[in-house]
Amino acid sequence: MAEIDHLSPTSIRMFDRCPRQWMYRYVQGRKLRPAGALIVGGSYHAALEMWGTKKLETGKDLDADTLADKYIDEFDRRAGEEDVDWEGESPVAERDRGVRLVRAHRRQRATSLKPVWVEADVPVDILDADGQSLGRLVQRLDFYGVDGVVRDFKTSSKKPGAAEVEQSNQLTSYYGATKLHLAAQGIQADPPVALEVAVDYKTRPAEVYVAQARRTEEDWREWLEHVAAIYRMIRADIFPRNTEGWHCSPQKCGYFHLCRPHRILSIPAARVAG
Ligand code: SF4
Repeated sequence: MAEIDHLSPTSIRMFDRCPRQWMYRYVQGRKLRPAGALIVGGSYHAALEMWGTKKLETGKDLDADTLADKYIDEFDRRAGEEDVDWEGESPVAERDRGVRLVRAHRRQRATSLKPVWVEADVPVDILDADGQSLGRLVQRLDFYGVDGVVRDFKTSSKKPGAAEVEQSNQLTSYYGATKLHLAAQGIQADPPVALEVAVDYKTRPAEVYVAQARRTEEDWREWLEHVAAIYRMIRADIFPRNTEGWHCSPQKCGYFHLCRPHRILSIPAARVAG
């Protein structure tokens, strides 16, 4: 039986995509080389964490050069510590891309955002039907502002679509965790959730897209049921393959050679008639 005591929205997204992939990563501990985009995203997040923390302390925004320097320090550290899969991109180009993203946040968004708290860890106990704890749902909330909105900062190669924001389980998780965090401080609220996605373009300046959405108590309850169902599958060692979709290919799944070696030889022969 797999012994897992916490899940995060990110690891749950992997489980939803393919339970077998999740098993290789979290039960067998087979960590894959991180992609360059992950190094950019993590370093961007570290720069924004410094911006939010300082703004909370002083009420002032750090300047763009200071944030860019923080980003570069983080990028160099992470890139130096990991065997990164740059996926054909140059590390220098990836580093510069993140600098443009950080500057876009500072230019477009920083001044108007005023924090109440930043980087809050909110663990949630996931209970079985009989009230027994299955484990925890853990997440770090990026930013809660004086406008009462909880915000998730991300980087991406494309503008987020409306469906992505409406259907994001991570935002539902943000909503419920924020509600609990506020309730612990004696505040009853139904916080709107927002995704702030920084996107770099080759031919025009980087931009930050903001998409706001609502979640309800029902959405939160559904999400907790979903997390509980995943815990039950993990406890029962149920990790079916999900072979249908973009994620299941030798290029997209780093476990393909373990999981479906027979398909590596046969894939080039696949054709669609007509
Ligand atoms: S090869 Fe396909 S089925 Fe196997 S772990 Fe990867 S995504 Fe899942």
